[in-house]
Amino acid sequence: VKQNGRGSFSFYFEDLNIDAKRVILLDREIRKAIENREFTLSFQPKIDVVHNTIVGLEALVRWQNKELGFVSPGEFIPYAEETGLIIPLSEIIIEKACEELAILRAAGYRDIPIAINISSIHFGQSNFLESLQKILEKYNTAPHNFELEVTERTVMNSDEETVRKFVRLKKAGFKLSIDDFGTGYSSLSYLVRFPLDYLKIDRSFIQHIALLDEKQAVVDAIIQMAHRLKMKVIAEGVENIQQLNLLRKMGCDYLQGYYYSKPVPMAELIDFLQIWEVEHQG
Ligand code: C2E
Ligand code: CA
Ligand code: CA
Ligand code: CA
Repeated sequence: VKQNGRGSFSFYFEDLNIDAKRVILLDREIRKAIENREFTLSFQPKIDVVHNTIVGLEALVRWQNKELGFVSPGEFIPYAEETGLIIPLSEIIIEKACEELAILRAAGYRDIPIAINISSIHFGQSNFLESLQKILEKYNTAPHNFELEVTERTVMNSDEETVRKFVRLKKAGFKLSIDDFGTGYSSLSYLVRFPLDYLKIDRSFIQHIALLDEKQAVVDAIIQMAHRLKMKVIAEGVENIQQLNLLRKMGCDYLQGYYYSKPVPMAELIDFLQIWEVEHQG
């Protein structure tokens, strides 16, 4: 049997051989990379479409490796989760986010928070909040500077302990987002149990939205319901003006996507912020 597409299994011997080699190399290189802190962060702006302001930045991890070249987080994050390496990797990511935040603040941007993607494995650690606070203290920064993006996988387990963890994070001052909404099994009715600030509609719903009435209906319903649950809505993967106009008309609060900017290093993002200010003054 041979299937095309990512994540599918192939029973051809040669292919298995190639995959096995890559996993061995990936395993060796990712361990070294954690040791040497080879990872960097890119940032993508979130835009308030009503006020034309930048309301936040999402940090996305990047890994350029000597042997493997550019490795996408879509490949190495799941591998790190499988092997437990996600814990030291996440700590590096959060520390880097603190360092980059200091650069953003030094450039004069005092109120723009940075959103960090949190793996459900890391979130599930009993000392998650404490480890987060320890890093922030080390960098002398406070939780209100950060948003935490968690996926549906993290909230799927809506037991008392998970809910309590969210409440503690919220009380500590973090803003909380549900990421990739619509791709998992969550329903808005149980999201009500979590003190969430933002709901991010997955890119798959935004793609071709201008062409498909069904997608428009779904997105419209998500926005209305999220608003009734007192959440702000972010659309991800906005690539063109048609999507922008439709989403604005539907009352979507914030937009994120290549239409505005690809994820870029902090220095470039600061240039983007400066140009944005000039173009949207007054
Ligand atoms: P995500 O959190 O849903 O991040 C959004 C992804 O969509 C990013 O891919 C981003 O580069 C891409 N994107 C943004 N705008 C557009 C657009 O307009 N069109 C298209 N086609 N794509 C767009 P990226 O950086 O490759 O990350 C993929 C996934 O890897 C992320 O999905 C997230 O689940 C994970 N990831 C990335 N960085 C981190 C991290 O620091 N920590 C953890 N735990 N996971 C991360
Ligand atoms: Ca995200
Ligand atoms: Ca997402
Ligand atoms: Ca995603």
